[in-house]
Amino acid sequence: MNNSVDVKVVQSVPLWINGKPVTASGQRSGEITNPATGIVTKRVAFSNAADVDAAVQAAQRALPAWRTAPALRRARILMRFRELMESHRDELAQLITEEHGKTLADAGGSVQRGIEVIEFAMGIPHLIKGEFSEEVGTGVDTHSLRQPLGVCAGITPFNFPVMVPLWMFPVALACGNTFVLKPSEKVPSASMLMASLLKEAGLPDGVFNVVHGDKEAVDALLHHPDIKAISFVGSTPIAKYIYETAARNGKRVQALGGAKNHAVVLPDADIEFAADALIGAGYGSAGERCMAISAVVAVGAAADPLVAKLKEKAANLRIGAGDSRVDGKEPDMGPLVTRVHRDKVAGYVDKGVTEGATLVLDGRGIKIKGNEEGFFLGPSLFDRVHPDMAIYKDEIFGPVLVVLRADTLDDAIRLINANPYANGTAVFTRSGGAARKFEREIEVGMVGINVPIPVPIAFYSFGGWRSSLFGDQHMHGMEGVRFYTRGKVVTTRWPDTNALPTGFNMPTLG
Ligand code: NAD
Repeated sequence: MNNSVDVKVVQSVPLWINGKPVTASGQRSGEITNPATGIVTKRVAFSNAADVDAAVQAAQRALPAWRTAPALRRARILMRFRELMESHRDELAQLITEEHGKTLADAGGSVQRGIEVIEFAMGIPHLIKGEFSEEVGTGVDTHSLRQPLGVCAGITPFNFPVMVPLWMFPVALACGNTFVLKPSEKVPSASMLMASLLKEAGLPDGVFNVVHGDKEAVDALLHHPDIKAISFVGSTPIAKYIYETAARNGKRVQALGGAKNHAVVLPDADIEFAADALIGAGYGSAGERCMAISAVVAVGAAADPLVAKLKEKAANLRIGAGDSRVDGKEPDMGPLVTRVHRDKVAGYVDKGVTEGATLVLDGRGIKIKGNEEGFFLGPSLFDRVHPDMAIYKDEIFGPVLVVLRADTLDDAIRLINANPYANGTAVFTRSGGAARKFEREIEVGMVGINVPIPVPIAFYSFGGWRSSLFGDQHMHGMEGVRFYTRGKVVTTRWPDTNALPTGFNMPTLG
C-alpha cells in the first residue's frame, strides 16, 4: 500500500520569519507521517541557504532593540508566553502525538517540563545580575556584567518537539539574544505554534524565527557569519559534527548527543519498585527518550527476580495509538516515529538473538487492530547481555531493554564508566552508603538515586558527559544563562583630587 497522499491535499508547513509564516524558496521538502496510521499528513518545505539567511537577517535586525530592552520587559513577555503555553497545552500535546507518536499524557508531560524552563527564564532580571566590589583599590570599584551574544541558533531532535526547543530559546531570549530555531523535519508543527504564541505574547517581530529542513539548512546556520552560538540536541555523530564545524567557524557551541543509560539494581533494592520504575523508563515513549533506561545492570541475587518481574510487567503493557484508548485506558506506549526507525529497532532484536543474548520477551511482529499500517513494535527484553554485543554498545532508541549481570557494585560502576555514552544513570538500593558511593564514583552527567529518569528540574542544568555532550555548558539553569551571555568586568575610577596618578607598571590598585 502506498501511504503517500496527493501532495495537493496535504497541508504544507511554512517557515516563520520576521513574525509571520513565509514560503520557503528551496525546492526540496519532506513528508510528515502520523506514526500511528502510517499516513502522510503534511509536507514541510526545506530551507536553503537563502531562506536561512533571511531568518538570520530578520534576527539581526531585531537584535539592537531587543538586547537593550530592560530585562524586566523581556521577562514580562515570557510570562505572557508561559500563560499561552499553558492554555494551548492540549493542542501542543496533540501535535506532538500526531507527528511523533507518543501518548497524549506523555506529550503533555513533556510540554509541562518545557514550560518550567520558561518559568526559570522569567527570573532573568535576577539571574543576569552582575557583581560589584567597592574600593578594590583606593578610589577604584569593580563590577561585572553579562551581555547577550547576538543571534543564536537551536537545532533540535524529533523526540521532544516542544521540550527540547524550550531548553534553549526562553533562556536565550531572556538574556537579550535573538533566535533561529531549526526543529526536526519530522516534527515541525509544534515549533510553528510556539512561534505564533510568542508573537501573541508581544515578542517583537524577528526576535524568534523558525526554519525547517535537513543538513542543507543546518550547514547554512553553521557557516553563517552572523550566528554567534549554536545549541544542538540529537545523535552523537551529528553532535560531534555540529561541535567541530561551528567551533571551527568561531561560534560558541553546546551539542548534546546520544545516550545509553544504565540502571543498577542492587540485591537490597525493593525489586517490585525497581521493576515498575524500569518499565516506565525503558519502554515509555517507546524508548525514544535520551534519558530512557536502555541497559539494566542487575547485581548478584537481584538478577533472577528482577528479570522475572520485568518480563511479567512488560508483557502487560498497553500498546496503541497515542490518542486512543486500550482496554478503556490510555496506552502505555505508542508507535515509533517512522517505519525506517521501527524496522531498524526490530533489526536490533534480530541481532541480539544472533549475538547469543537470551530473548526473554519478543516485541517483533505486533499488529494493532485498526492501526495495521502504524509503526508499532512491542517491548523486547534481553537477559545475559555482554558488553561486547551490539545491542549493548549501540544506542537502539526503541523499546528494547537489555539486562547485564554484574557481581558487585564496583563491577557495575566500572562497566558504566567504560561506556562512551554518559547522559543519565540510576541506582536502586536501600543502602545510603551504596547510593553515596555510586553518586561519587559514577562518571555520568545526571544521576538518579531510586529515580529512573533523573531529568533535572529547569533551575538546574541538563547535560551528559563524554560522547553525550560536546562543549562545556549544559542546557538551562545557570549554565544556560552563562552559555547565552558573555561576561565583562569593568574597573572604575572617577576623578578625585586625592587620586594617585596612573603609571607605566602593572596596576596593583591597592
Ligand atoms: P539526529 O541527530 O538525526 O537529528 C537531530 C537534528 O540534526 C535534526 O534537526 C536534524 O535535521 C539534524 N541533522 C540530521 N542529520 C544531519 C546532518 N547530517 N547534518 C546536519 N544536521 C543533521 O537526531 P534525531 O534522530 O532527531 O533524535 C534522536 C537522537 O537525539 C538520539 O540519539 C537521542 O539520544 C538524541 N537526543 C539527545 C538528547 C540529550 O539531551 N542528550 C535529548 C534528546 C534526543
